[in-house]
Amino acid sequence: MIGVVASGAAGRMGQAVCEAVEGAEGMDLVAKADPALGVELAAVLGKADVAVDFTTPDAAAGNVRACLEAGVHAVVGTTGFDLEALREAAEAAGGANCFVAPNFAIGAVLLMEAARLIARQMPECEIVELHHDRKLDAPSGTAKRTAELIREAGGNVHEPIHSVRLPGLVAHQEVIFGGEGQTLSLRHDSIDRRSFMPGVLLAVRRVADLPDRFTVGLEKLL
Ligand code: NAP
Repeated sequence: MIGVVASGAAGRMGQAVCEAVEGAEGMDLVAKADPALGVELAAVLGKADVAVDFTTPDAAAGNVRACLEAGVHAVVGTTGFDLEALREAAEAAGGANCFVAPNFAIGAVLLMEAARLIARQMPECEIVELHHDRKLDAPSGTAKRTAELIREAGGNVHEPIHSVRLPGLVAHQEVIFGGEGQTLSLRHDSIDRRSFMPGVLLAVRRVADLPDRFTVGLEKLL
């Protein structure tokens, strides 16, 4: 049985994580941490094997450090904070792994893979990401990661990345490639937060056995 703590458990993603873990075989939701619930993450780590963090850009890095110091593996979905500083902390910490995915939805990961392939032949492109109006960071972690992957493949992502924030949206992204007399568009829509949960559960199952202390991207688990 994998003991899981949900960090940010009262939030939109945290609530979906609690529901998913409670319904998953071989997992036990041992604690819910969130200021709104009056429960501090550090106080409940002793019960956990893995912590799943969907909090805020300000809170996530401190939470992950607390997990690693306590020997608890961290699965991180929070976006909008410096991953490189976290990489250093994870690589310096002994005994626990950190897995980060800017997007846990399989469709979004496939979009990134397809974008990388297309960019080799049609390098000029723009990214439009669209999210609900309570999202704290812009551009989204998914858009930044997509741009990074396209650039690694030789593509030219035009700046700025376009960020749309409106009520009614969940998480959406379009990559538009333009070439001689033609365009090619890729689009992914998360219309329900349940879209992220198979990826989160996969990461919870796999994080302890990852070969590296710090791993970024759901594609590494597929
Ligand atoms: P949200 O509804 O605002 O939830 C965040 C929750 O974390 C809030 O309840 C917040 O409490 C709590 N929190 C703040 N500081 C904390 C701390 N130190 N320890 C524990 N909990 C703390 O946000 P959301 O929409 O669920 O999104 C959360 C994050 O996930 C965002 O960064 C978002 O971009 C990201 N996200 C990632 C994916 C992915 O696939 N990787 C998908 C969707 C969203 P207070 O309200 O009291 O501050």
